[in-house]
Amino acid sequence: HNTVTVVGAGLSGSEAALAAANAGVQVILYEMRPQKMTPAHRSANFAELVCSNSLGGEADTNAKGLLQAEMLSVGSVVMQAAHQARLPAGGALAVERDSFSAQVTRMVREHPGITVRQEELTELPEGITVIATGPLTSDALARALAPVTGGEHLSFYDAAAPVVAFDSIDMDLAFRAGRYDQSADYINCPMNKEEYERFYAAIELARSHTPHDWEKLEFFDGCMPIEEIARRGFNTPRFGPMSPKGLDDPRTGRWPYAVVQLRQEDREGRMWSLVGFQTGLKWGDQKTVVQLIPGLQNAEIVRYGVMHRNTYLNAPKLIDSTLQLREHPRLLVAGVLAGTEGYLESAATGWLAGTNAARLARGEEPLTPPQESMLGGLVRYLASANAKNFQPMNTNWALVPDLTVEGRKKLGKREKRPLMYQRGLQAFRAWATGLKSVQVSPGTPSA
Ligand code: FAD
Repeated sequence: HNTVTVVGAGLSGSEAALAAANAGVQVILYEMRPQKMTPAHRSANFAELVCSNSLGGEADTNAKGLLQAEMLSVGSVVMQAAHQARLPAGGALAVERDSFSAQVTRMVREHPGITVRQEELTELPEGITVIATGPLTSDALARALAPVTGGEHLSFYDAAAPVVAFDSIDMDLAFRAGRYDQSADYINCPMNKEEYERFYAAIELARSHTPHDWEKLEFFDGCMPIEEIARRGFNTPRFGPMSPKGLDDPRTGRWPYAVVQLRQEDREGRMWSLVGFQTGLKWGDQKTVVQLIPGLQNAEIVRYGVMHRNTYLNAPKLIDSTLQLREHPRLLVAGVLAGTEGYLESAATGWLAGTNAARLARGEEPLTPPQESMLGGLVRYLASANAKNFQPMNTNWALVPDLTVEGRKKLGKREKRPLMYQRGLQAFRAWATGLKSVQVSPGTPSA
């Protein structure tokens, strides 16, 4: 009885396997790559990052920062590997993707309590099982899940951004800077009004070439394609991913009309991705559009943007905040399949599912983290959100209770969020200290 099966060694499954194994149970971990690849993964590594290389902002004003600190305090493998593989990214936890996933792979493979089976699982196994097969769950397993979920899973589409070679960027036009007083980790391509108009027209034209009926598709919110953003209006890109705010062009000393930002993708700085430029445009059109960006007129695209299917359950209909299926409590879900959005959220729910699977295996009660903590807020949301049109959720401050200080008027965000961060982290650590199997690290990690 002391065995837990984990299906999928992505962000959530790797974390689940290690959490369960660290709690002293035997883990069998199934991963279908490289025998069977997904449309987005390119390697055999565990916890491969398929789009951006960022795990989000680290500051104590940032909701992702709180979830990162919570995960670090319980020894999360994803957070440990991220700190070892980190790249400069102005207040965000960005990583060199290959060494990050190589490190996670090593930690999982070297754990004596984990047996890795490199094969696709097509039937649900007996016994306590964490299903962590992600947005690109194989078709066979998706079918096997239908009877236990009553067919309550959904599919929609999301997208990845193009990456360009550094030595093809014209640094006489582009400039390095961070927004406002952040460190200069980004390359910025400034546009004046005429350049923006030309660029916008090219996107409009390119979109008319795409075979998809884009308007009918539902998009992963944090990863909406640039052509879909542009469809919403002339100024929508400029008020969104192309915002010039806080970016002084060194040649004029002023904010440009619009800006395309590039973020470092590899440790050497040879590859840079276009921030917020996920796209499903045809590759020829992508090249035309990208080369209309000042500084990228000769850009060599080393990876084109792509669009992908996404699979997730209607969490509020099906799961408890312990991540167990209500009707099948020996089955737990984590990651995107459980209705979260994002690398960090996937890892965090993986940790909880693995921890609870181990508790079940030992005859203990599965648990939910405190509501003030970001993980506690997230899983409570999954279990209790409005099931109608349920959309995957990522970390944000609205998941935890608001904070008021007695005798004072409403607090401003800047004042309130560091207090909510401290409150959440303290509550989480106190809760985790009560779990016999978890070693809570001493001290508050520096933000
Ligand atoms: P994965 O990390 O995908 O792990 C699932 C694993 O299960 C895979 O390794 C897969 O090979 C394996 N598997 C599937 N079926 C089977 C089976 N039947 N048997 C055995 N193994 C199986 N999040 C962000 O934070 N930032 C982004 O920029 C971002 N971009 C994304 C872009 C795309 C194209 C997609 C699809 C998603 C993106 N996400 C992004 C969302 C999400 O954070 C990631 O997909 C994340 O990897 C999800 O973690 P997971 O553990 O749920 O799934």
